[in-house]
Formats: sequence, C-alpha cells, structure tokens
Amino acid sequence: MDHDRNGRVVTDDNVGPLLAGLARGAARGMAVTLRHFFAALGDYARGRRVRGPAESGLFTVQYPEEKTRPPENFRYLPVLLYDEGDKIRCTSCGICAKVCPPQCIWIVRTAGPDGKPVPEPAEFTIDASICMSCGYCAEYCPFDAIKMDHRYELAAFERRESLLQQKEELLVPTSYYAQLHPTDFAAEEAERLAKEAKEREKAAAREPAAAQ
Ligand code: SF4
Ligand code: SF4
Repeated sequence: MDHDRNGRVVTDDNVGPLLAGLARGAARGMAVTLRHFFAALGDYARGRRVRGPAESGLFTVQYPEEKTRPPENFRYLPVLLYDEGDKIRCTSCGICAKVCPPQCIWIVRTAGPDGKPVPEPAEFTIDASICMSCGYCAEYCPFDAIKMDHRYELAAFERRESLLQQKEELLVPTSYYAQLHPTDFAAEEAERLAKEAKEREKAAAREPAAAQ
C-alpha cells in the first residue's frame, strides 16, 4: 500500500486529485519565477541593471555602498540610553548583568563622596565577542535603559580594544532609539506618561488631606 508524504493512503481513487494538487502547486511556483524573470528581463532591456532595496520584487544590494534597513525588531548589540540633558537612564541595579546568559556585562556602581552608592554606573562594560544578541538585558531592564542596536558591522583585528565596549561607546541618545524602534518607543512613552499622570493625581489627592 502506498502513502503520500502526509501518511495518507494513496489509492486509485485519490491519486488523480493528488497529482492535480501537485501540478497546481508547481504551476503556481513557476508563475512566480516567470513573473520575476520577465520583470528582471524587462528592466535589463530598458538598461536598468539593478533594483534598489526600496523597490518591490527582486533586487541586488550593492553592499557595502548600499544597505537595507533591518526590521524594527532586529537586534545586534545592546546600547545604553541617555535622556535630554545627558541623564543616563541606567541606575546600575545590575539586573541585566544577572539575566545575561553568557555573563558578558560588568557594572561598577558610582560611589558618592560619603562612600554611599549613587544610582549611576561608574563603569559599564559589554564583551561584544561573547554577547549572543538574545536581548534579555533589554527585556528585563526596569528602567528602559538598555536597548538593542541595529548596527551589525563589527569586524576587528583584535579583541580587547574593539570588542570590550565601555560605557562611553555604549551611550546613545533616546532619539536614536526612537528612530530605530518607533513602535516600542511610542508604547514606552505612553506608559511613562500614564504613570506620571497617575502620580500627579495621587499627589493632588494627598494635598487637600495634608492641608486639613
Ligand atoms: S541597564 Fe537597566 S538593568 Fe542594567 S544595570 Fe542599568 S538599569 Fe539595571
Ligand atoms: S543581548 Fe543577551 S547576551 Fe548580549 S548582553 Fe544582553 S543579555 Fe547578554
């Protein structure tokens, strides 16, 4: 007894529809191939050798002169955000370093003049040669301080100078993140504004009570 690739029994009754289905699938595939083939042939005949990444259909990217924009959720290496006024968002809480699977984040917290900890990193190092681009650090950061970057060109001849990235190299403005991840940024901003409005309401409700 014969079976098709889905384990169904093939009899004389169903072999006809099976072949018809195969022929339909092959014809559809060929139609797509031919559509692209004639579109490319038409371009070639008109003297157009290359289609740009912004156009639909088949195209050739002349890398490295030309680059395609990665999708919004593409992730490569983490970056640290600072807000307007150069305020670093990171509080050096250490959560990202704890959740990082290959343990490639090192943080040194700032100490104040009295020796007490200040919620800001004095040092923040990521070993880019170990980072596996999982994005856990960005996912777990409670302060939206670390986000995944789109820059992916990281060839280096040595490891220490180029791939051990320090705080100064990791810092980017919030506007850079907003441009890379507009959807996430808009959602986070909406959440932040809602939280602030709630806190203002609570404070306003406390004021009359304190005045009595
Ligand atoms: S990046 Fe976020 S999770 Fe990591 S130490 Fe800074 S505030 Fe904490
Ligand atoms: S992306 Fe993953 S591997 Fe890389 S630093 Fe963040 S948690 Fe670690």
